Amino acid sequence: MDCLFCKIACGEIPANIIYRDDLIVVFDDINPQAPHHKVIIPQKHIATLNEVHDEDSDLIGHMALSGAMLAKQLNIANEGYRLVLNCNPGAGQSVFHIHFHLLGGRRMNWPPG
Ligand code: 5GP
Ligand code: ZN
Repeated sequence: MDCLFCKIACGEIPANIIYRDDLIVVFDDINPQAPHHKVIIPQKHIATLNEVHDEDSDLIGHMALSGAMLAKQLNIANEGYRLVLNCNPGAGQSVFHIHFHLLGGRRMNWPPG
């Protein structure tokens, strides 16, 4: 599978991995958009949110809850943080292996643009 995030998950491409379990891997974004910018990916390859099915609902829930857990560990849970999932190029998706961005450590604007 020629997928950047699959290669990061299996260790073929290095990344600063801050958390890993049976289902997900979390690492520092190479081009951070905030003081804290982590990428949360499933170990399983799924290209976009449009390819997520009912059997993946526990996995998606686990990704979101892990984002909340890491926000607490990073001490950004109370001040506020953002979990973002871009779906398809029109929304800014550039790597076609689903991921949440966990962003925090600065004031977040709305609408996001
Ligand atoms: P997207 O644009 O698909 O929502 O997010 C992809 C993210 O992956 C971007 O924020 C980008 O900076 C990050 N990224 C792209 N290539 C690499 C890489 O090789 N290593 C890491 N750690 N992050 C990457
Ligand atoms: Zn992949």
